[in-house]
Amino acid sequence: MATPVRPESGQGPAHVVVIGAGMVGLSTAWFLQERGVRVTVLDRNGIAAGSSWGNAGWVSPGLAIPLAEPSVIKYGVKAMLDPDSPLYVPVKPDPELLSFLVGFGRRCTMGQWRKAMAAYVPVNRRAIEGYDLLEAGGVKATSHEAPIMAAFLREEDAAGLRHEVELIREAGLELETSDVDGAALRSELPIVAPEVETAIRIAGQRFINPGEYVSAIADAVRDRDGDVQVGVNARTLRHGPGGITIEMHSGPPVRADAVVVATGAWLPELARAYGVRTRLRAGRGYSFSVPVDNPPVPCPVYFPFERVACTPIGDRLRIGGTMEFRGPDEPMHIERVEAIVKSGRPLLSGVDWDDRKDVWVGSRPVTVDGLPLVGATKAPGVWVAGGHGMWGVTLGPITGELLAEQMVTGVVPEALRPFDPVR
Ligand SMILES: Cc1cc2nc3c(=O)[nH]c(=O)nc-3n(C[C@H](O)[C@H](O)[C@H](O)COP(=O)(O)OP(=O)(O)OC[C@H]3O[C@@H](n4cnc5c(N)ncnc54)[C@H](O)[C@@H]3O)c2cc1C
Repeated sequence: MATPVRPESGQGPAHVVVIGAGMVGLSTAWFLQERGVRVTVLDRNGIAAGSSWGNAGWVSPGLAIPLAEPSVIKYGVKAMLDPDSPLYVPVKPDPELLSFLVGFGRRCTMGQWRKAMAAYVPVNRRAIEGYDLLEAGGVKATSHEAPIMAAFLREEDAAGLRHEVELIREAGLELETSDVDGAALRSELPIVAPEVETAIRIAGQRFINPGEYVSAIADAVRDRDGDVQVGVNARTLRHGPGGITIEMHSGPPVRADAVVVATGAWLPELARAYGVRTRLRAGRGYSFSVPVDNPPVPCPVYFPFERVACTPIGDRLRIGGTMEFRGPDEPMHIERVEAIVKSGRPLLSGVDWDDRKDVWVGSRPVTVDGLPLVGATKAPGVWVAGGHGMWGVTLGPITGELLAEQMVTGVVPEALRPFDPVR
């Protein structure tokens, strides 16, 4: 694909610093380069050092829907009483978390879900386009076309997803699904346990190896003379004549014409000062990989009832789950991994559960209203890109493309309006 050049009028910033080298920050940097902008990407820990590494890697616009819906309340109350539940809320005084959960709970209505879903539809429709542009434009990584197979131990457990699919279609998102009985499911996916009765195939999705993919975007940014620096911990931003200075915790400051804060679950640390008041918390998830008989598994498998996600990563299967509302810098709680193993054992066969590798915890940046935060802040030249919660892999590239468009043209793309970070 030809690289568009910066508009003659010199609109938009000439040099942008993106803070955060996750899927969202690097995608934004890459799409800014497409528009002729010079970029520097800074990360305090590394490429894909946050939530963008051990996630399930689904590029699944058909499933990218708001988290808050009416059944979540009942589910949440039940889950709080079960130590093995995929949802974990620490029982300790934390007024900020409490206010987040109350705000989230208030939005668990069908009216709010429909409103939020309407905001997702336009970006979901274009999510795959984001990947096509990256790959056609020189990112040396592959998003694999595949269905996502949602599987259920009991036929009646599928009712929830069937209803959700109807609602997604009602919201205007095209979604191709078909029912698969147990026998057909096992002939396609022998890894699924004999006890699993039924599945719903969600066609037209993709999956990636997220760590590898994000590294490939970083390489592509560098190949086009972008500067990607790791071990650089941004502390604060200072406006001055001729631009913005990013002060570090240690080391020299970096100058820019504009800054994009794309720091995932840590977004409020830098963005709150610029009018980004929508509450955002880390919804931590865990994953690990296991060897399987007869690799590779051809497509991702999802067990919605148990909330276990499985993705082929090379010859192994990555298994992930859990939503744990602890701080993003807290240590890993290994009992959450054991809870995933306990849920997963009856669902899969031919898996060596004891040979676990790459045990990982990562923080989904979850906003109280379920919508990403992408756009301009109250400070000139300071932008944010993040808050995608469960769906930053699916939506990172397309929202990066749209934000780059806004930054260079000055026009807010219609699809980004609901994600206004100072809403
Ligand atoms: C178990 C699990 C499974 C998931 N599965 C999927 C899936 O299948 N599909 C999907 O679409 N999404 C999935 N997600 C969600 C997805 O992983 C996230 O939405 C996405 O990775 C967020 O990307 P990000 O770039 O915003 O943040 P991150 O990837 O967390 O990146 C933020 C970066 O900012 C850096 N940083 C923070 N503060 C500073 C600072 N002050 N200075 C410098 N650097 C800083 C951090 O080091 C980090 O590297 C999953 C998440 C989990 C936990």
